[in-house]
Amino acid sequence: RVQRVAGEQLPRYVRVNTLKTTVEDAVDYLKRDGFSYLGQASRLDDLTLKKKEFVKDLHLPQLLVFAPKTDFHNHFLYKAGHIILQDKASCLPAFLLNPTPGSHVIDACAAPGNKTSHLAAIMENKGKLFAFDLDAKRLATMSTLLLRAGVTCHKLAHQDFLTIDPDSPQYKDVENILLDPSCSGSGMVCLKDHASNEEEEDQTRLASLASFQLRCLNHGLRFPRLKRLVYSTCSIHRQENEEVITACLHQNPNFRVVHALAHWPERGLEPLSQCLRASTSKTRTHGFFVALLEKHSMSRDMKL
Ligand code: SAM
Repeated sequence: RVQRVAGEQLPRYVRVNTLKTTVEDAVDYLKRDGFSYLGQASRLDDLTLKKKEFVKDLHLPQLLVFAPKTDFHNHFLYKAGHIILQDKASCLPAFLLNPTPGSHVIDACAAPGNKTSHLAAIMENKGKLFAFDLDAKRLATMSTLLLRAGVTCHKLAHQDFLTIDPDSPQYKDVENILLDPSCSGSGMVCLKDHASNEEEEDQTRLASLASFQLRCLNHGLRFPRLKRLVYSTCSIHRQENEEVITACLHQNPNFRVVHALAHWPERGLEPLSQCLRASTSKTRTHGFFVALLEKHSMSRDMKL
């Protein structure tokens, strides 16, 4: 119950979809629509807003922040795909991967597609965005979402990412992967209500999720031209986050973790402070974890 209250107090985050509009045009539209614009936030407390007030986020340039529970589901900007309702923490993976327009990218566990649409916006709809998911229903939702968002550079496939052949010619130019696999969801403050679970059951479930996550991660790193991979979960458990990354680094010594977003207020648990964490108390978001892995460059390897 405590978690549910905390969830209701989170700001409403709105990502401006730059495939359809600009941040400035969205801000102007919202001002004309009766919202009061307070400018660019510069500290976390600026995200505490009253009804009808809004600011630009302090970390992510395409993100607008509103009072908790501001409802946009019937708003023109939402229905026309100009804005995407997406928690701030879940905007981090695509923002950190930052694929260049024209590049080839894989979104390994993609549905319902918020991060895919974010990647497409960063790629300016240029290049190839291969998106996989196992769940047909979620893929159907995803098609609607991507259509509304004006995404055209994607190729959706109802496939198990673990069965995708990294050596297939169609993926030969893939340099970036976003991996947001199924997780316990323990960071989702509105959904969390499982205090009655037996600890032992939780441990078994976590171990099986972590093993799946590590297999996905190892599989992602097998794509021959891969340079960068972002791994994310909406879990607060070390087992699904830092421990998965640590095991992966042991098995793939040709990759390292990049120190991401120096000014982000919450870091991965030691010793993985290069990674990012997010929480209601420190970042005013759902609980989240993000790691950016990068292949050692040839020149770097030679220097070592
Ligand atoms: N990235 C999505 C977004 O931002 O909208 C959310 C992804 S959700 C955390 C994890 C997804 O992974 C689920 O939709 C699930 O169906 C999918 N999934 C689970 N196992 C998979 C597998 N082996 N291959 C592909 N997708 C898988």
